[in-house]
Amino acid sequence: MTLEQQDKQYVLQTYARDYTNFVKGVGSTLYDENGRDYIDFASGIGVNSIGHGNEKLSSAICEQAKNIIHISNLQVIEPQAKLAQKIVELSGYEMGIFFANSGAEANEGAIKIARKYGETKFDEKRYKVITLEHSFHGRTITTVKATGQESFHTPNFSPYPDGFSYEKSIEDVYSAIDDKTVAVLIELVQGEGGVQPFEKEEIQKLATHLKSKDILLIVDEVQTGVYRTGEFLASNLYEIEPDIITLAKGLGGGVPIGAVMTKHKEVLVAGDHGSTFGGNYLSTAAGLAVLDVLKPMYESGAIDETLVYFSEKLKHMAVKHENLFEKEVGLGLMRGLRAKSAEIQGRVLKNALTEGLVVLKAGRNTVRFLPSITISKNEIDEGFKRFEKAISSL
Ligand SMILES: *Cc1c(COP(=O)(O)O)cnc(C)c1O
Repeated sequence: MTLEQQDKQYVLQTYARDYTNFVKGVGSTLYDENGRDYIDFASGIGVNSIGHGNEKLSSAICEQAKNIIHISNLQVIEPQAKLAQKIVELSGYEMGIFFANSGAEANEGAIKIARKYGETKFDEKRYKVITLEHSFHGRTITTVKATGQESFHTPNFSPYPDGFSYEKSIEDVYSAIDDKTVAVLIELVQGEGGVQPFEKEEIQKLATHLKSKDILLIVDEVQTGVYRTGEFLASNLYEIEPDIITLAKGLGGGVPIGAVMTKHKEVLVAGDHGSTFGGNYLSTAAGLAVLDVLKPMYESGAIDETLVYFSEKLKHMAVKHENLFEKEVGLGLMRGLRAKSAEIQGRVLKNALTEGLVVLKAGRNTVRFLPSITISKNEIDEGFKRFEKAISSL
């Protein structure tokens, strides 16, 4: 039985999967079972923030695994407390953190905090959460309902929880607010929706307005967080102070972890929320190692240098191949090329893999680039060389 047959027989076929079998990774280079190398411009959908095979991360995980992998949250967990402090300090916000295992679970926590805030802070309960079209917030029944894409709300999984509505633009949010609105949930750069950043001014204006109305601003930083946009949080880059922020993808360097942080530390109390695995020794030790690698790179300016280098290359690509791409989009190391059609997008993705390059799609027609934050200039050069080859026949 081949690996593909095994997968198809025993794994539920919920993904349109490619069957390249990667067996090793070094930095931003992946190797398949035949020893063929691929440049990784996807980093596991923004998860492998410090690349593959990182020595600091793998030894932190090994050392932790030899001692304690897991003790329940009924006990204090030292690396969890340390990671919480580190995240709070790096964020610059006076917040407390709850650890979960994924982005969706982090967003579930955010919605629970908002709903309880709406129950306890007002005479009449506020519960409505406004999100944006083209957003993505997860795959659980609630977060899929929070996701502003009609295609996700198929009757197959109905009924969905009430209290979510979607607006076309930030400008439309103002008039959508009513006396039952408790929160607005947004990504600052829509990832899955097409690598679309919002304007700093319009976000700052919205944040100020929400504050004046005592409506919570929840920023989903599952993809934008942990230096992806060049700052520790995209919220730092936008110079806003959200009420609630969620993190996941890049935080554990590949070990499942999610986090919801809020300045409303008093809202959730013992018994309100929990997670068996959330914030265990293994995932939080990994998170600490990831931040130990990235923080000095941020401080030395190395992350800035990488993202400028990467985006220059990408801009060049967009200009040179304007027959295929409308424009270059995104922020930091969260980038895209808006293809002129979905068909071009599909062919770019397929050809890229053939040329030994892993890229992603986003939205209907965007080719998405989420390289690891630690990617080297050589790997960037080689990746774009392969990208050129991939599109040369289109
Ligand atoms: C990936 C993603 C999620 C979902 O995270 P999971 O870990 O897959 O549950 C939520 N929000 C955003 C912005 C994401 O990019």
